[in-house]
Amino acid sequence: MDHIQFKANQTAAGYVANGLDESTQEAFELHLMGCSECVEDVEVWRADQTRHAQAAPRGAHRGSQAALRRLW
Ligand SMILES: [Zn+2]
Repeated sequence: MDHIQFKANQTAAGYVANGLDESTQEAFELHLMGCSECVEDVEVWRADQTRHAQAAPRGAHRGSQAALRRLW
């Protein structure tokens, strides 16, 4: 996969939520080493997830799954 596909598939969101299959995660991690834009995406998603976790600890997991369903 290339950058456009990672973006189109919201791979950064799946990566933060541990929702990627093994080969996709490996490919994305390799891509992250050379792509600051995708690193930023991961940081944005991670900050978003942290915010949700702090706001609603009990609903955080369900919330992120719902968000993923919407994205995929
Ligand atoms: Zn990229």
